[in-house]
Amino acid sequence: MKPRLIAHVDMDAFYASVEQHDHPEYRGRAVIVGGTGKRSVVCAASYEARRFGVHSAMPMYAARRHCPDGIYLPVRMRRYREISSQVFECLQTFTTAIERLSLDEAFLDLSDAAQEPEALTIGRDIKQRIHACTGLTASVGLGPNMLVAKIASDRCKPDGLLHVPTQRVREMLDPLPVTSLWGIGPRSGAQLERHAIRSVRDLRLAPQPLIQALFGNQARLLQALASGHDERSVAESAAERSVSQETTFEEDLADPRMLLQALRPLTQGLCASLKRAELLPHTLVLKLRTADYRRHTRQQRFAPADNSLPVLWRLAENLLQGWLSENPGKPLRLIGIGARDFADSQQLPLFQDRFSRDRELDATAKSLRARFGEHALQRGMPRGLD
Ligand SMILES: [Mg+2]
Repeated sequence: MKPRLIAHVDMDAFYASVEQHDHPEYRGRAVIVGGTGKRSVVCAASYEARRFGVHSAMPMYAARRHCPDGIYLPVRMRRYREISSQVFECLQTFTTAIERLSLDEAFLDLSDAAQEPEALTIGRDIKQRIHACTGLTASVGLGPNMLVAKIASDRCKPDGLLHVPTQRVREMLDPLPVTSLWGIGPRSGAQLERHAIRSVRDLRLAPQPLIQALFGNQARLLQALASGHDERSVAESAAERSVSQETTFEEDLADPRMLLQALRPLTQGLCASLKRAELLPHTLVLKLRTADYRRHTRQQRFAPADNSLPVLWRLAENLLQGWLSENPGKPLRLIGIGARDFADSQQLPLFQDRFSRDRELDATAKSLRARFGEHALQRGMPRGLD
């Protein structure tokens, strides 16, 4: 199997950094973003505030006690979402294989974009591009899998860049506490502690039957993680996904009229699926495979985002005619049409409900993570461990 290159990108003290960026007078000062109600908690604290012991999910009254001179600001979710879409637009220029974990955090599968020796170069590019378009810093961790990339970005915060090449993975993981691994929360950590298993190395070398007795069918997975193996793949999130329809001809086809005729129902099908999924694309992609099995694509970006048949059909027709005029008479064995670069949900009235639910989820996830550790709410983690 081809070695993978995965990045974990995490904006530094995101909400607080946005406030410091928008209000230069707050830069270098302790900024605390959170709710205003009686039982509110801190949603984000600038690094200056963290020095006073303020951290996310801490009750606001406690934060005020730790840091009475801090600047306390309400949550401006709309603004954070705006910056978040800019960040994700930057990320999309590197790959479409992006798994969004929250407004300010994502995994990227860069395996097609770069190889291990170029990891630091592409990591630096990602940081520079984000900084150029938002003025904010991100930390980027890179490694052969998601586990390693995530731990790497945690260790280099803030404004960091760290690549852990395959042959250094064990060295990096071994001394860490077992609770650094996904799926091992405080409870499993305490359970392991009773058997003197404290570090990742301890878990890696622990007798398999013991781990089996403690964790049942998750044992194998946990020991694999402890050895630095993580097979999970970056699950493209809705916003980054592409939707497409294609058809392979029984016999290669070169007649422009028949090709247009074949493209029409595909475009109709595409519009129908976009409408069902409530997605508005910004980019239409024509996919072709010539008789020699080569793949060709032509794409067109457009604004505003749209999923109506008249608009998409006109674009699809233009793309195909453009290709046909450059490649007259070339027989095709496959034709397809796809859409991607979906508009951010907040721009759609249709999404209003989902948007507010997202907002709550984001806030809850953030506070849970802060309270129970980063792995409290990771997708794809083994279940039933904590
Ligand atoms: Mg962050």
